Amino acid sequence: MTGFSTRAIHDGQPFDPRTGAVVPPIFLSSTFVQDGVGTFRDGYEYGRGGNPSRDQLQQQLASLEGGTHAFAFGSGLAGEDALLRAILKPGDHVLMANDVYGGTHRLVSRMFVPWGVELSTADFADLDAVRAAIRPTTKVLWVETPSNPLMKITDLAALAELGHAAGAVVVADNTFASPFLQQPLALGADVVVHSTTKYVGGHSDIVGGAIVTADAELADAVGFVQFGVGAVNSPFDAWLTTRSLKTLAVRMERHSSNAQAVAEALVGHPALEAVHYPGLPTHPGHEIAARQMSGFGGMVSIQVRGGADEALAIVRRTELFQLAESLGGVESLICYPSEMTHASVKGTELAVPTNLLRLSVGIEDAADLITDITTALQS
Ligand SMILES: *Cc1c(COP(=O)(O)O)cnc(C)c1O
Repeated sequence: MTGFSTRAIHDGQPFDPRTGAVVPPIFLSSTFVQDGVGTFRDGYEYGRGGNPSRDQLQQQLASLEGGTHAFAFGSGLAGEDALLRAILKPGDHVLMANDVYGGTHRLVSRMFVPWGVELSTADFADLDAVRAAIRPTTKVLWVETPSNPLMKITDLAALAELGHAAGAVVVADNTFASPFLQQPLALGADVVVHSTTKYVGGHSDIVGGAIVTADAELADAVGFVQFGVGAVNSPFDAWLTTRSLKTLAVRMERHSSNAQAVAEALVGHPALEAVHYPGLPTHPGHEIAARQMSGFGGMVSIQVRGGADEALAIVRRTELFQLAESLGGVESLICYPSEMTHASVKGTELAVPTNLLRLSVGIEDAADLITDITTALQS
């Protein structure tokens, strides 16, 4: 198999056979002419069922995650919803890491639990805790590593073994790492989930999601939900995402080196209680991360001495780190998870510390980013 960057640039991205255009054109058509009733050109009939731009993205994603099937959705949560509908029935239990993306927990607790699905959470950095929380009805183990926003690390190979012994589907949300830094399917996970809004898209200009698997039966079920429910990625967003994937490797290398530099500059800062970054040797998951990732990614979180007021003062003072939800774009962002990304889990077991700030370290010059955040911490 060719290398990651070669596949990122060429898989699913053939030049246009009619014109020779190096970049495949965007197919904005919602419907496709039939040569006779039921005789389709290349299988295309109607845009919800299939679109060449979406198919090209799906091929590229399947290749990059080491899967056989990928499905591109209108958002990460739309993909998660389709996946869970494909797997769960009333009475099934979902065991989720206790610091997943707030919206993922909300999706299950507010949409699936009322339909009879059971949900509980555990600390997935502690596999004994996971083992103890598995029930006879456990159908899904849902992990995010590194996790959001505390940057906890789960041993994916060990978790997959545990999940399979229990007969559960092991789902890895690979949004924070991206397929360039981590390949959950190769480590034993059954399904990879992405918010392509984040690193895969990488430029803060699209909202999208993806499901990738090498399990043909599960792929059939997810494909049917994608078609039957219809939360598909638009052709234009799919095309932009294929464009973005071509630079994923170089972006992730720069995100990782910048985040490492920012984290190292912040360690021991008198205004901070803690710096969470798996690239720091003092991080409790450092060794596992070093083994299962090829870099530590662009996300850093910090806990500010004092409390919420001190943390909120810092987000008012940074200039390059702009205050916004989301992550994974070329520009640096800062967020206050307890009132922003994780506001939906306030008061639950997933609530995050109120002195926590999350940094999405962009690909600007590291020295400028360090100056920006340390200046904000000092004043
Ligand atoms: C943003 C995010 C999601 C949800 O994706 P959307 O594209 O916003 O629907 C899921 N998981 C993680 C880790 C995320 O950061």
